[in-house]
Amino acid sequence: MPVTCGGKAKWSRGRPVFYNAGVKSWDVIIVGGGIIGLSLAIALRRRGARVLVVERGEPGREASYAAGGMLVDCSLETPPALQPLAVASARMYPEFAHEIEVESGAKVDLRDQGTIVIPPSENVHERPGFTMAELLPAPLSELEPELIAERAFYLKERSVDPRALSSAATKAARNLSVDFSSGDPVRAVDLSDGRVNGVTTTKTSFMAPKVVICAGAWSGEIAPCAFPTRPVKGQMLCLAMPSRTLLKHVIRSPNAYLIPRSDGRLLVGATVEEAGFDKRTDPDTIQRLHRAALELVPKLRDARMLEDWAGLRPGTPDGLPILGATQTPGCYVATGHFRDGILLAPITAKLMCAVIEGTTPELDLGAFSPSRFH
Ligand SMILES: Cc1cc2nc3c(=O)[nH]c(=O)nc-3n(C[C@H](O)[C@H](O)[C@H](O)COP(=O)(O)OP(=O)(O)OC[C@H]3O[C@@H](n4cnc5c(N)ncnc54)[C@H](O)[C@@H]3O)c2cc1C
Repeated sequence: MPVTCGGKAKWSRGRPVFYNAGVKSWDVIIVGGGIIGLSLAIALRRRGARVLVVERGEPGREASYAAGGMLVDCSLETPPALQPLAVASARMYPEFAHEIEVESGAKVDLRDQGTIVIPPSENVHERPGFTMAELLPAPLSELEPELIAERAFYLKERSVDPRALSSAATKAARNLSVDFSSGDPVRAVDLSDGRVNGVTTTKTSFMAPKVVICAGAWSGEIAPCAFPTRPVKGQMLCLAMPSRTLLKHVIRSPNAYLIPRSDGRLLVGATVEEAGFDKRTDPDTIQRLHRAALELVPKLRDARMLEDWAGLRPGTPDGLPILGATQTPGCYVATGHFRDGILLAPITAKLMCAVIEGTTPELDLGAFSPSRFH
């Protein structure tokens, strides 16, 4: 990270901080290089802002690396307050993914084969007029010959490969001249006369009049804001399908979901656990997910297990994201996307650009206001 320090030093927390014309500064500093921070950095940069992403580790290696990548905008599964954002973001995805692919030169495997949902049996009778057979575009035996399911319905949803997306978004951001500082955590947002003027990391300080906290499950650890985020663990595994086209659709059932990738991988997920910041996988849990996949698609017994992992979703007390300006002038937040951060990245970036530029966002962010926890 090229930072010039040519001026007179002030001291802050035992370290020198330089304030004069020789110091490099940015219009906006984004804390956290997950898909939320990366998408916002790209959107702000495209609008002409000078942007620095400060990432504790490597960009795109936490929740955004662990995710399945289903783009779920179905009203049966999305909290009502989130539905307008989910629908808008799902609509934005083809263009969002295309632009990132063009700007990075890398593919993100956006797929639009749709999702087959196998609902829990007790729910089926609860929905008046809900006839499963009418909600499939073709007989299940034609759509997914290897899937064992008595009842199912179809959703016109997309999926994306979050690892490919995060990696491409990092490349796109670099190609657009977003600056990165990696491997050094932000400890605090710095204030001067009650306004933001940068951030302090464990090794240095960076200056900007605007700072956006996009630190996922860790957003509560950065002083002085302490947002009430918590980690919600998800374990997953990945199989190599015996043939690339064994499954075409995403399959969601009460016990597991299956997400095929175009290269023949199949992701099986996921647990939802309150386990603190523990990212270890548990062999029994992974086996249970594996068995659930075999019950849905017995032919997967020939599938090789490639990998298992766990990631930490950014949860909040009411299950909704925290989006907007904080009470501290110049300090913003975009976090708490819980199970939907991959889906919500494009709309979050768009709405947060408006907030940061001081214009009215096209969707109401009232339900997501950081002040609701005060
Ligand atoms: C198993 C699993 C399955 C999922 N499936 C889906 C799905 O199918 N669809 C969907 O839409 N979503 C899904 N999600 C949710 C999605 O992954 C998250 O909502 C999303 O990735 C959150 O992105 P983020 O950028 O806020 O957080 P992260 O990707 O966690 O990024 C936060 C970044 O901040 C950095 N950071 C933290 N503290 C600091 C600090 N002090 N200084 C600097 N940097 C810091 C971290 O290192 C990290 O890189 C899933 C999540 C999991 C775990």
